[in-house]
Amino acid sequence: MVKPDPRVILKEHNIPITIQRVKILEYLIRTNEHPTADQIYSEISDEAILSFATIYNTLHLFTKAGIVNELHIDKDKTHYDIVRKPHDHFLCRECQKIYDIYDLPIQPFTNDTIDGHSIERAHIYFYGICRECLKKNKR
Ligand SMILES: [Zn+2]
Ligand SMILES: [Zn+2]
Repeated sequence: MVKPDPRVILKEHNIPITIQRVKILEYLIRTNEHPTADQIYSEISDEAILSFATIYNTLHLFTKAGIVNELHIDKDKTHYDIVRKPHDHFLCRECQKIYDIYDLPIQPFTNDTIDGHSIERAHIYFYGICRECLKKNKR
């Protein structure tokens, strides 16, 4: 898979390029985790001069532009991931890891209107115990 270029993404969304925005996007592209603003801060604040406020504001800007997903799967924290293909999320209550779910076992929407509302997107949060923790519990 071709790694997306942060500068191209910013240009496509008419967002002026700054080194901080590029650094944050680069990090979101290379991580497979769904980091919180705190995690992003502790991972990359040394590489670029980044304050927590800058990270927070940048994530907000990216969310509004549709570049990142803001996940509220965990009620105590907000997690972020870059929007590649639409997908849903699963949170393990044992290890707290968030997994991407691409193939839904159920198809919740058979048409795109509900009660006269036009549905543009849906995001489902699944909760339970992940396959890794299930394996550990068996031992
Ligand atoms: Zn787990
Ligand atoms: Zn995700």
